[in-house]
Amino acid sequence: MKPAPFEYVRATQLGDALAALASDDDAKVIAGGQSLVPLMALRLARPALLVDVNDLPLDTVEVANNEVRLGSLVRHVRLERDAVVVRAAPLLAEAAALIGYPAIRNRGTLGGSVAHADPAAELPAALVALDGVVLAEGREGTRRISARDFFEGFLTTVLAPDELVVGVQVPVAAERHGASFREWAPRAGDFAVAGVAVVIELDAGGVCVSLGAAACGVGSTPVDLHEVLTDAGVLGASDVGDSLLRSTAQAAARTARGDDDREQLVGLLTAAALHDAFARARGGDASGTGVAA
Ligand SMILES: Cc1cc2nc3c(=O)[nH]c(=O)nc-3n(C[C@H](O)[C@H](O)[C@H](O)COP(=O)(O)OP(=O)(O)OC[C@H]3O[C@@H](n4cnc5c(N)ncnc54)[C@H](O)[C@@H]3O)c2cc1C
Repeated sequence: MKPAPFEYVRATQLGDALAALASDDDAKVIAGGQSLVPLMALRLARPALLVDVNDLPLDTVEVANNEVRLGSLVRHVRLERDAVVVRAAPLLAEAAALIGYPAIRNRGTLGGSVAHADPAAELPAALVALDGVVLAEGREGTRRISARDFFEGFLTTVLAPDELVVGVQVPVAAERHGASFREWAPRAGDFAVAGVAVVIELDAGGVCVSLGAAACGVGSTPVDLHEVLTDAGVLGASDVGDSLLRSTAQAAARTARGDDDREQLVGLLTAAALHDAFARARGGDASGTGVAA
């Protein structure tokens, strides 16, 4: 099938992109096109006007004031490989490497993934785990929206139709920081059935003093697991023994209640990601930990 007819504008200035978006109720941004083009080809999306943002200067990676600020046009492949992202936001690098396959990662963008809000997508879950901020630009100016409030439902966000995601912001990884993204997909390159992101920070004594976690593929939005893992005793823990891993897995599994296979999967992935995160925060290699998934 071919897309329905549409008009096309390639914006070179942010103001032009915003004006074009506001000019037509059926206008849509196109970034990497990896989600929108297939939907248009199937006629599940029929935008009257495509506003191409690829020429805007939003392919940026900056670190300032203890924050990593990433422009919305940063492609998945850059997130995966950029030395600054790998060092300062390793969870985003790990999440990006799990997206689809290389051809998808070469074109797909951070802003596109965030705005598209697929509940199975890795980057939205990683942003929720990191307590990140989405930067949305509209005619009224810039809105800073917590990732925890940004995702509303299946493919739905709080973004207004004439707003553009211009970037995201996450805290720079602390010195004793450990992060892990574990997921399971039936075949390499497929969307994951479920995935879990965990990020922790240890103090000098090895005690967990900060924690974030979220799951993808479980609900209609990324599921914030921060409270679940806190209640299971992760915050304040200095060791991830069997008992903590078991209680954490059981608590996380309950977020996927009603789907037995997914429940078990989410529990297992959470335990594995938590185990990795502690090993990495201690400066160890999390590979070969003996935790499945
Ligand atoms: C075969 C295949 C496998 C895939 N596997 C995965 C996977 O495993 N995990 C995963 O997360 N994704 C996967 N994807 C999707 C891929 O990651 C997309 O790149 C991503 O979801 C959307 O990014 P994009 O830049 O391509 O956005 P586009 O397709 O250009 O746009 C997607 C939507 O977001 C809107 N949009 C884009 N940019 C902005 C912006 N800056 N501001 C406001 N709105 C915007 C568009 O209007 C559109 O509605 C897969 C895609 C394919 C085709």
